[in-house]
Amino acid sequence: MSTIQQNLQDVRQRIASAAQACDRAPEKVMLLAVSKTKPVAALKEAIAAGQRAFGENYVQEGVDKIHHFQESDISPALEWHFIGPLQSNKSRLVAENFDWCHTVDRLKIAARLNEQRPADIAPLQVLIQVNISDEQSKSGVALNEIAPLAAAIQKMPHLTLRGLMAIPAPENDYQRQLAVFGNMTQAFKALQQDYPQIDTLSMGMTDDMAAAIAAGSTLVRIGTAIFGARDYGAPQTAQH
Ligand SMILES: *Cc1c(COP(=O)(O)O)cnc(C)c1O
Repeated sequence: MSTIQQNLQDVRQRIASAAQACDRAPEKVMLLAVSKTKPVAALKEAIAAGQRAFGENYVQEGVDKIHHFQESDISPALEWHFIGPLQSNKSRLVAENFDWCHTVDRLKIAARLNEQRPADIAPLQVLIQVNISDEQSKSGVALNEIAPLAAAIQKMPHLTLRGLMAIPAPENDYQRQLAVFGNMTQAFKALQQDYPQIDTLSMGMTDDMAAAIAAGSTLVRIGTAIFGARDYGAPQTAQH
């Protein structure tokens, strides 16, 4: 078994243990494999081990990988999630190629994605990114901005609002991780009151997945624990 396949097994086991520890069903926590900066050969290993959902941060790199795998006709189909910061001049590529976008954090981006999503494919599944703890970050809406943005997205025919996403400031202490994720879960439950179809709370990465799952995450975004450390010296395009 390859390292990536072994890592995937370990991550699935960590997700299951974290879920069981708080009486949650492990299958209620989806694993998104974050493959940014990794070559298609690494994704192929994960696919061989049954992984189907991949997260990418850089638009062009992600689109290159999507096109690469479109030719190989994998079944069941791969699912592509855009999880990076999104500038308006790149929104069309996301709207035309990805299945999900986790980082909608302003009306202008939502409106562009809606307008640019081709009408003959499924609506783009979107999450509102919330800035829950990282005051240094410009990404994400404040808690009190979720409701108006959700109401606007709800009216857009080519977008389906699925929930919320957060990238908290790095924090080593489990209890403090839990407290921040708990605030997200509260916001998520409040939103579900208004939009019962909402089912996705995207939070938890390699270093905080256990706390995220304990707090109620339904989707963890895991890169390093599956693919190893990232080399940002490498060009950010898919290497075939
Ligand atoms: C890179 C990235 C991840 C994965 O982080 P790891 O710590 O490598 O698991 C998850 N979410 C987002 C938004 C990222 O940019």
